[in-house]
Amino acid sequence: MTRYVGRFAPSPTGPLHAGSLVAALASWLDARSCGGQWLLRIEDVDTPRCSAAAAHIILAQLCACGLAWDGEVLWQSTRSPRYQQALAALQQRQLAYPCGCTRRDIDAALAAQGRQHERHGERPYPGTCREGLNGKPARAWRFNTQKFMKNWPSAHMQKARSATFLIDKKQVHWQDRRLGEQQQDVAHEVGDFILHRADGLWAYQLAVVVDDGDQGVTDVVRGEDLADNTPRQMLLQAAWGLPAPRYLHLPLVRAADGEKLSKQQGAPAIDSSRPLQALAHAAAALGLPAAPKASSVADALAFWVAAWPRFYNRAP
Ligand code: GLU
Repeated sequence: MTRYVGRFAPSPTGPLHAGSLVAALASWLDARSCGGQWLLRIEDVDTPRCSAAAAHIILAQLCACGLAWDGEVLWQSTRSPRYQQALAALQQRQLAYPCGCTRRDIDAALAAQGRQHERHGERPYPGTCREGLNGKPARAWRFNTQKFMKNWPSAHMQKARSATFLIDKKQVHWQDRRLGEQQQDVAHEVGDFILHRADGLWAYQLAVVVDDGDQGVTDVVRGEDLADNTPRQMLLQAAWGLPAPRYLHLPLVRAADGEKLSKQQGAPAIDSSRPLQALAHAAAALGLPAAPKASSVADALAFWVAAWPRFYNRAP
């Protein structure tokens, strides 16, 4: 059996809800059914939105649900020096540049190019500061997607071809275990994305890739809402010479109105006093069969571990 290191990486902006429990359960089942490790990482880089209290509730909820993790919990808020070092490595190669644009500047530049669309509430960055700040003060650091894609050497491309993704001149192509063949033109659709934010916080893309790399994560199992971030993360993995994990993006749990369940929209916390019921809902959302009646949490989990490979095969 090949080495398997999985992880669950919640942002502690609130307790686990039915949707985040699906990601926790699925990543745990995938790891355990492979005899692998399952790590827990608290993604608390966005300090104004996160709280230690929420993080501790999440740990207690996972324990109540029998989802035991391996080793120490990694807290992103302790990792600033490491993120700084990772950014410096890109700065040295001119793959990161300072940006002085405000949102309003970005909107104006997009409008001037006849591109006004917003993408999932994000503006594709039109590259205004790529060649210099033009006297503006630096606010954020961005990844030079265009330069990286242009200079991606064919030898690296060969190496990437055998992995889970392939970078050609324009597109990042990758295989998702559930969604199949995916591709994205990052330079056009997203642009040069943020690594270090104007408010001084580390960007999710940078922190997640550095940590998955440092923790030796081989398999990322998470909600489908994050699938769109994967090509950006693959570019950073390639830039830092990190191996790309396999990816499995899970079906999203929707509220009655069809919206994705989210803490921002006040999705209720799972009821940890009835862990079996919460787990049964999460398992049903994943399309797994119901555990036999009167199972304990441990028995139900063992039942789903055994069932898992029939529903979510590990290839590619
Ligand atoms: N921290 C992210 C979230 O809670 C998940 C990151 C990931 O799994 O890559 O949405």
